[in-house]
Amino acid sequence: MPLPGPPPAAFFGPRAPSPEPRLFRALGIESSCDETAIAVLEGDGTVRCNLVSSQVAAHAPYLGVVPELAARHHLETLPRLLAEAERVVGLDGIELVAVTRGPGLIGSLLVGTCFAAAYAWARSLPLAGVDHLEGHLVSPFLSLDGAPARDAPDPALTLVISGGHSSYFLLAGGEARPLNRTRDDAAGEVFDKLAAALGLGYPGGPIVDRLAERGDPAAFRFSPPQIKDPAGALDFSFSGLKSAAIRAARALGPLPLPDPMSPPQPVLDLVASFRRTVADWLLAPLDELTARHRPRVVAASGGVAGNRELRARLVAWGERRGIEVLLPPIALTTDNAAMIARAGQLRAARGRLDDPRALTAYPRAPWKAASGPGGKPVFPRLPGA
Ligand code: ADP
Ligand code: MG
Repeated sequence: MPLPGPPPAAFFGPRAPSPEPRLFRALGIESSCDETAIAVLEGDGTVRCNLVSSQVAAHAPYLGVVPELAARHHLETLPRLLAEAERVVGLDGIELVAVTRGPGLIGSLLVGTCFAAAYAWARSLPLAGVDHLEGHLVSPFLSLDGAPARDAPDPALTLVISGGHSSYFLLAGGEARPLNRTRDDAAGEVFDKLAAALGLGYPGGPIVDRLAERGDPAAFRFSPPQIKDPAGALDFSFSGLKSAAIRAARALGPLPLPDPMSPPQPVLDLVASFRRTVADWLLAPLDELTARHRPRVVAASGGVAGNRELRARLVAWGERRGIEVLLPPIALTTDNAAMIARAGQLRAARGRLDDPRALTAYPRAPWKAASGPGGKPVFPRLPGA
């Protein structure tokens, strides 16, 4: 039902962007999956406060996220985090509210969008609903050391790797275009599934990453990346590797492991070899994409961008090729609200604001179906944008 009365401010709907738009001091709100997060950013992108409350403990017994539990946790946690932000940095100077509209769990998204819309409405603040992926795309340009955000050099090539995405994007001319995608599982998903099969717990990526440090990455040989694509899309495929790794784990003994806290050396070798192969896959299209698009910077974001081997390999690649590689601080690789606040600031600067009485959430990525040379741009394709 629409709220009564006139709109609280003349901020809704497209406005012509001024030649040098001022970026607003923003409150960011993220609740798309199992992390509840609130952040405050200065207009120049300096992160003043970045609060994240993880629900991992609540979902761990189920080895995955339970949507209803997640929504309830967001409902309980958002007011608490907001009060904490108020205490730490104060919210009086907030000029913009930014919130994730999708994709994600619809119940969780509705909690966040209703919370943000009510806050914006009550304080007559402009509201920017952003795509979760826009957040991941801007996160490599943020710092947690009190420095302002960097502008993304144009063009930039960004690898987004998380529990739901595995794609290179080209950021050029204010648009983000997906250049490839995974044909099956996402990179984070295969870490989680191998860890679940071994009985290591959820989320699996950080645990596998840590154990892999103690293993021999050359001990197991998995098929190397074979990215053959007549259409030139350079797509990924991780499901074969996932099945091969789980088969190899079963051959080592009964699963789940009797003592997951201290796996035997062959299991450590297996996860190290698996991690190396995932990194091989993720880096495989890089030379070709760099030759095609000549990016001024290569960046990575999303939870898997916290992977130690992948980070080291990307940095080494950049040094070899003389191309700057930008990685977000580990705390900004997984879901957070600082990236949502930044994406909202950039949206607002382009005059793309939302009416708090009509903000909708969406569970699926509208741009995800297409990738490769004909891939659809992310930003201009958002519903209602
Ligand atoms: P989403 O946006 O899809 O919810 P996030 O950006 O929060 O995902 O990333 C979570 C994913 O990243 C999980 O699949 C997790 O296992 C994976 N991940 C987190 N840290 C690491 C790591 N160090 N190595 C590999 N994968 C990781
Ligand atoms: Mg994410």
